Amino acid sequence: MADTTAGTISGRTDPPPATPIIPAPVFVWPPRPVALARFLFGCPGYFLPLNILYMGLAVLTWFAFTPDLARMQTFSWDWVGIVYAQNLAFAVLIYGGLHGRFYMRKAQGTRFMMNRREPTAQHRRFLFGSQVRENVFWTAGSGVFVWTAYQVVTFWAFANGYIPMLSWEAHPIYFVLLFISIPMMRDAHFYFVHRALHHPWFYQRFHALHHKNTDIGPWSGMSMHPIEHIVYFSGILIHWVVLSHPLHAIFHVQQTGLAPALGHVGFHKLLTRRENVYSIGQRYFHFLHHRYFECNYGGDGTVPLDKWFGSWHDGTPESHDLMRTRRAKAHGA
Ligand SMILES: [Zn+2]
Ligand SMILES: [Zn+2]
Repeated sequence: MADTTAGTISGRTDPPPATPIIPAPVFVWPPRPVALARFLFGCPGYFLPLNILYMGLAVLTWFAFTPDLARMQTFSWDWVGIVYAQNLAFAVLIYGGLHGRFYMRKAQGTRFMMNRREPTAQHRRFLFGSQVRENVFWTAGSGVFVWTAYQVVTFWAFANGYIPMLSWEAHPIYFVLLFISIPMMRDAHFYFVHRALHHPWFYQRFHALHHKNTDIGPWSGMSMHPIEHIVYFSGILIHWVVLSHPLHAIFHVQQTGLAPALGHVGFHKLLTRRENVYSIGQRYFHFLHHRYFECNYGGDGTVPLDKWFGSWHDGTPESHDLMRTRRAKAHGA
């Protein structure tokens, strides 16, 4: 039987996350043009509200906060430090802000919470005896460090001409198309690296650390082994081989660094003080991965690789039974 109790346990009466979870109407056959247009231009949709915010942040970062390329031809702490400080500030703001709202101020209590318990466990299995402290440690100590390392090496390579730089004036349409396709590239890359991390050899050594978080909170998102961080952020390397601009690299790496905060928020709806309810995207999809491990390896559905490779858990009892059968077969039971 599927555990369909998320959002309704402990006397919670809010509607549970909507199921079945269906892939976005992008790579579907037969094509669904009306649904696609609604997805592209509606809210919530591909752009609104989240991707627009990440895109805006990347543009702001490039024009307002990024040191001159000429200065980045040689590594020096003055500009590398700026990039690290920026990334740390963004992380504290987003991860800390969401954690503060949902788990410290408890702005909506347990309304629309998917977790059984709040992700604030005190237990010896966590570093410093605390889930949140361990999560913050891996995020700030390794996650932001690896994120920054990829970013500064990419800047340095652009600055020295080791990577050819796309010109906005010469190829504006390609520039925009590449920019807006980055979230889909991330989805696909995440599926493949995450699927590989579930191979028992990699899982035991590296990925089990992330899965210590069965009840998830924003800080759990980036709580990974340093090797997993290196693999997770490696998607930015596409800009070394596909003609790009530093702005593409910034959007790519910044979204990779910040999106897990909301991806692990543990709630599936935002409830305001005036009792207005807003969608915060398909948060249930990755939540199911944390609960059952062997499903939903990818992003939440623009490139539905889980669907194509048979590991899509759509939250329904039927889908759950399929996953259990698959799991039993794989374990030879
Ligand atoms: Zn996760
Ligand atoms: Zn996993």
